[in-house]
Amino acid sequence: MMYFNVAIIGSGPAGIACAIQLRRHGITPVIFEKNEIGGLLRNANFVENYPGYADGITGKELITKFNNHLKKLNISPIFEEVIKVNFTNEIFNIKTDNSTYTSKYLVIASGTVPKKLNIEANNVFYEICELYKHNLTHKKIVIIGSGDAAFDYALNIAENTDAREVVILNRSIKTKCLPLLKQRALENKKINYLENTELNENMEYDYILGAIGREPNDKILRFAQNDVKNLFYIGDVKNGHFRQTTIAVGDGIKAAMEILTR
Ligand SMILES: Cc1cc2nc3c(=O)[nH]c(=O)nc-3n(C[C@H](O)[C@H](O)[C@H](O)COP(=O)(O)OP(=O)(O)OC[C@H]3O[C@@H](n4cnc5c(N)ncnc54)[C@H](O)[C@@H]3O)c2cc1C
Repeated sequence: MMYFNVAIIGSGPAGIACAIQLRRHGITPVIFEKNEIGGLLRNANFVENYPGYADGITGKELITKFNNHLKKLNISPIFEEVIKVNFTNEIFNIKTDNSTYTSKYLVIASGTVPKKLNIEANNVFYEICELYKHNLTHKKIVIIGSGDAAFDYALNIAENTDAREVVILNRSIKTKCLPLLKQRALENKKINYLENTELNENMEYDYILGAIGREPNDKILRFAQNDVKNLFYIGDVKNGHFRQTTIAVGDGIKAAMEILTR
C-alpha cells in the first residue's frame, strides 16, 4: 500500500494551489482526480476577476497555466476516483476505484455536484464541457437557471459554437447573476432569455443544460467521528455561496501552510 504524507482529493483550483504551496516546502503530495485537471473551472467561459488578468482569461487557458505550474514542479495527479476514506490509528486509508493508499494528512478539494432538474427529458447535461462533447452545429440549446452559470453558459455557446439558438429559461423574474453577464446575454442576438417560463412539452430543443445551482460534493467523504485530525476541506466543497476560483486558491494555500506548521 503506497503511503503519502499528504493526499489531496481533487485537482481543481483548490487542490492545485495546495499542492503547489506544499511542493515549495519540499513536500510532494499525491492528488487524486476522477476526471480532468481543472475541475469546474473547465466550464468557465471568461474569468474576469482573477487578479493579473485585466482583460480576462478563459477557464481553459487559466487551467493550462495551473497545469503548467504543476508540471514544472513535477506533480502529476493520479487519475483515480476516491470511493471511500477511513481514519484509523491517525492514518487515512484512501480507497480508489483502482487501489488503496494511506496518508497522514488528507485535503478534501472535491468541489460540488450539480442540483438535478426535476424533469423527464432526454439529452440533459449539467456541465458545458460535457455538452461540448457533442456537435452543436444548428442545434437549439435550452439552459435552465438564472444564476451566473446559466448566463455564462449561454454566452459561451453563443460565442463559441454554431448552435442555432440558445434559450435561457427562468421560472421567475428574479435573476441571481452578475448584471454584466445578463446585459451581455440580452445584447446577443443568438440568446433568447425568457422569464416566468418553465420547460413544457411544446418546447422544441436538441439539448438541455441544467444550471440551477450546486451542492457540496462531500457525501462519500463524511466521517463518522468528529475528532478526525489532520483533515482539511478547501474550496467550493465548503464555501457555500462563495464559490470562486480565487477563494478556492486561497483555501489551498492556507491548508498547505497549516499542514506545514504541524
Ligand atoms: C460556468 C462557470 C463559470 C465560472 N466562472 C468563474 C469566474 O469567472 N471566476 C471565478 O473565480 N470562478 C468562476 N467559477 C467558479 C470556479 O470554477 C470554482 O469556484 C472553482 O473551480 C472551485 O475550485 P475547487 O477546486 O474548489 O473545486 P472544483 O473546481 O469543483 O474541483 C473539484 C475536483 O475534484 C474532483 N473530484 C471530486 N470528487 C472526487 C473523488 N471522489 N475522487 C477524485 N476526484 C474527485 C473533480 O473531478 C474536480 O476536478 C465558475 C464556475 C462555473 C460553473
